[in-house]
Amino acid sequence: MSDCLFCKIIAGQIPGAVVYQDDALIAVKDINPQAPLHVLIVPRRHIATLNDLSPEDDALVGTMFRRAAALAKEHGYDERGYRTVFNTNREAGQTVFHIHLHLLAGRSLTWPPG
Ligand code: AMP
Ligand code: ZN
Repeated sequence: MSDCLFCKIIAGQIPGAVVYQDDALIAVKDINPQAPLHVLIVPRRHIATLNDLSPEDDALVGTMFRRAAALAKEHGYDERGYRTVFNTNREAGQTVFHIHLHLLAGRSLTWPPG
């Protein structure tokens, strides 16, 4: 996807603060953090929204959540708590149409979200 921001970061065409990477995904610091820890877990393969997932992606999505948990633990937030969020389409506020799991931690997070 030539005009996709996250595909460009994955390809090294634009910089990103990558905190983890493997064959399936990267984790990058959000450029506009909403909490002391705000990382985006992004699959290397372009998938526009959760609506585009297929059964073959089940393991990938599980891997994304397990990486979020590992990063939360690595930063000392596993017991304090953290939030994981996928925004999907307009009313949820999705702005980058390449799925990404937000990991937020380091402050008390309100509920319900805005
Ligand atoms: P969403 O609104 O759920 O699609 O989330 C997109 C996120 O990407 C937002 O939290 C943005 O702050 C973040 N973002 C936008 N541009 C960049 C960038 N170049 N590097 C890292 N994060 C970015
Ligand atoms: Zn993409």
